[in-house]
Amino acid sequence: MSDVLIKSDHGALIIDGKAVSANVLAEVAAGAAELIAKGVRPGLAVVLVGEDPASQVYVKSKGKAAETCGFHSVQHTLSRETTQAELITLVEKLNADPAIHGILVQLPLPKQIDSQLVLETISPAKDVDGFHPVNAGLLAIGDRKRALVPCTPAGSLILLQAAMQALGRTISGQDAVVVGRSNIVGKPMAQLLLAESATVTIAHSRTRDLAAVVGRADIVVAAVGIPEMIKGAWIKPGAIVIDVGINRVPGEGLNAKGEPKSRLVGDVEFAAAAARAAAITPVPGGVGPMTIAMLMSNTLTAARRKA
Ligand code: NAD
Repeated sequence: MSDVLIKSDHGALIIDGKAVSANVLAEVAAGAAELIAKGVRPGLAVVLVGEDPASQVYVKSKGKAAETCGFHSVQHTLSRETTQAELITLVEKLNADPAIHGILVQLPLPKQIDSQLVLETISPAKDVDGFHPVNAGLLAIGDRKRALVPCTPAGSLILLQAAMQALGRTISGQDAVVVGRSNIVGKPMAQLLLAESATVTIAHSRTRDLAAVVGRADIVVAAVGIPEMIKGAWIKPGAIVIDVGINRVPGEGLNAKGEPKSRLVGDVEFAAAAARAAAITPVPGGVGPMTIAMLMSNTLTAARRKA
């Protein structure tokens, strides 16, 4: 068994996203060092508009990871009142900046700004989030050599491949169900699975009899945003479950400040699913850590292509 899979008391292998992401980050740092030796330092610019506390945390960890990888890392923090024109001017400046290979505009943006318009202003070659229609299109035609792939699905695929390898299986020909059809997770995840020759079903809020749809899947990817909505009893025995969901729910008791405790859960009922699955990602510590690692990987890819 590979060191990134842990045998659990529940029965399933637990796919350790922290360990896999550490491997990815180490490879990115090594790749960056090679590029730096040739005179090119990968550069990542992260743009934050407003003071959303969750976004501040994400942006900080992205900057920290970039520095750990040896990248040139810049952060632009703009006020909540920033206009769309001001933000677009900044993005255009970053597009033209040769020291910057990756641009990430942290979502959500304040409501006076059209997010889609901003994302479409980012040069596709620097679009390390992979949200530009050009990158979505390249992924859809199966051209991963030129696309920049959205980080969360790209990281989810690596975790799935690690589990597949440990179990001596391949994705090709397997029945995969992706629950959720967002442009950020569900749709690109389905494209990646299709490119690996899985038979892919995308389920969503209008899907009839979700339990039956999930129940025939060899691979389940949950990206819904509803705590533990995928029941363990739905999982086909021996399936592999990738839980993208990150949901904060009330915990037990009070914290040091006397406030009610909270905890993170996924979109899958973990213990019950782990009792039936062959392998499963935990929340936290599964897909979450992969997202930032893949952002670094995309930035290195963008810098290599430019070089
Ligand atoms: P979203 O809200 O954009 O999309 C949710 C999708 O779920 C929609 O396509 C909708 O059709 C579907 N859905 C809603 N109710 C449903 C139901 N009852 N049955 C079946 N499908 C239903 O969310 P998103 O941005 O794709 O994120 C999904 C989850 O993944 C969230 O919990 C989010 O926090 C998490 N997420 C995690 C990471 C990470 O780094 N691990 C990154 C992005 C998102």
